[in-house]
Amino acid sequence: MEKTIALIPGDGIGPDVVAEAVNVLDAVAKKFGHKWNYTNVVAGGAAIDKFGKPLPEEQLEICLKSDAALLGAVGGPKWDNLASELRPEKALLGLRGGMKVFANLRPAVMWKQLKDACPLKDEIVGDGLDILIVRELTGGIYFGERGTSADGNTAWDTEKYTRPEIERIVRMGFEYAMSRQKRLCVVDKANILNSSQLWRRVAEDVKKDYPEVALSYLYIDNASMQLVRNPRQFDVIATSNMFGDIMSDEASQITGSIGMLASASIGDGTGPGLYEPIHGSAPDIAGKDLANPLATILSAAMLLRYSFKLEDEAKAIENAVSAVLDDGWRTGDIAGSHIDEVKAAGKLVGTKKMGQLVVEYLNK
Ligand code: NAD
Repeated sequence: MEKTIALIPGDGIGPDVVAEAVNVLDAVAKKFGHKWNYTNVVAGGAAIDKFGKPLPEEQLEICLKSDAALLGAVGGPKWDNLASELRPEKALLGLRGGMKVFANLRPAVMWKQLKDACPLKDEIVGDGLDILIVRELTGGIYFGERGTSADGNTAWDTEKYTRPEIERIVRMGFEYAMSRQKRLCVVDKANILNSSQLWRRVAEDVKKDYPEVALSYLYIDNASMQLVRNPRQFDVIATSNMFGDIMSDEASQITGSIGMLASASIGDGTGPGLYEPIHGSAPDIAGKDLANPLATILSAAMLLRYSFKLEDEAKAIENAVSAVLDDGWRTGDIAGSHIDEVKAAGKLVGTKKMGQLVVEYLNK
């Protein structure tokens, strides 16, 4: 297979982790007989420095002409004082909206090798966590009508959803539930918000097409609590843009390390998907060879699975990551409280070495 992948390294640790994911993608291409052509996209703070804005139209165009896009992260203190329209994070909204990737898939998986990094008690976690959050990504309050009064003392943002916007997310939630444990939980605030009540009506309608899936509902406040109280009750969660934003960060924390979690943003399948680790640009460790590249490498695996339908290749990456962890290799963030033992065993590694190890294990 020959495909074009747009690389959007971004800022901070973004370029470091994307470089390692590219090495892994190249190793997959070699092993399975594929060819990837890469295009480079400048976005975020890097684009502000180069072009004066976070996502110039022609940079978005490069993504749209590709078969898939892999993003590192954007942002950093250098650009924190700019007006909100000019901030690096605007590039994220521009990419998501421009690429029409309306669903964000965030698997929150606890790797058994990293169980110690999970802040929850053993009896809560049991033999592991595997939750898939399907977050609506191009609608709701982040894209709704907003404003600030002339005197600056009143401000508003609007949560607005249409039936088709909700239906495609809920349907995706049912579809993934069918290939997993057949449980879907819709998270909302239907006791207060009209838009949430529409989410429930739509879910009830779509449910008729998936009689095997057990559908439940939770209010966002309760769901946030349940996620730490009894996370194993969840299989697939479908929710709005803002609630999904909050829940997926919470879910990432209970799995242990932000440096391990990948995400996929996908649309109706006619355009390229956008793949990225869930962490930010980590300015505190940028350029120090300290960043864990595994979240980005696992995002590359999702890219192969969802955009190119290459399940064996995606699994090969995930298996290589698992084998590297089995053998005790750790970056600082996942060594956690065992850091001294890991160091003494000579298995504490940096960004580059971790990337090389995944390639090595992939080729075994
Ligand atoms: P962050 O995710 O960048 O960092 C939070 C903490 O986690 C830091 O201590 C960091 O060192 C650590 N960390 C993050 N990724 C890591 C990795 N791969 N390996 C090891 N440690 C890792 O969040 P933040 O500090 O709140 O934000 C920093 C910048 O990133 C801000 O400008 C923010 O706006 C931006 N940001 C971008 C995205 C994105 O591009 N999708 C997402 C979140 C934040």
